[in-house]
Amino acid sequence: MAHQPEGTIVTACGEKVGTWAGYQRHWRRGEQACPDCLEAHRIKNLEVSRSADPQTRERNLRMKAAYGRALRRLAAEYPERFSELYALERRAAL
Ligand SMILES: [Zn+2]
Repeated sequence: MAHQPEGTIVTACGEKVGTWAGYQRHWRRGEQACPDCLEAHRIKNLEVSRSADPQTRERNLRMKAAYGRALRRLAAEYPERFSELYALERRAAL
């Protein structure tokens, strides 16, 4: 394992910190992305939404809506676990 400077927090993104790939590493582990990766994610989303043709933008909106519906169904199937996770995420977001 590479030497880390004292006080360095090791997160999932590793050497991909501040990139879209780094953000995906956080996401796959289900952890909050670090600020640099969050920024990379924000920029990537802006680029995609600006560059996409109307059909692709429409498709992206439908996929986002589908994700929201799936999340609501999951919350309905596991209400206690969802409430627990939601409370944790809300606290982390303060
Ligand atoms: Zn990161």
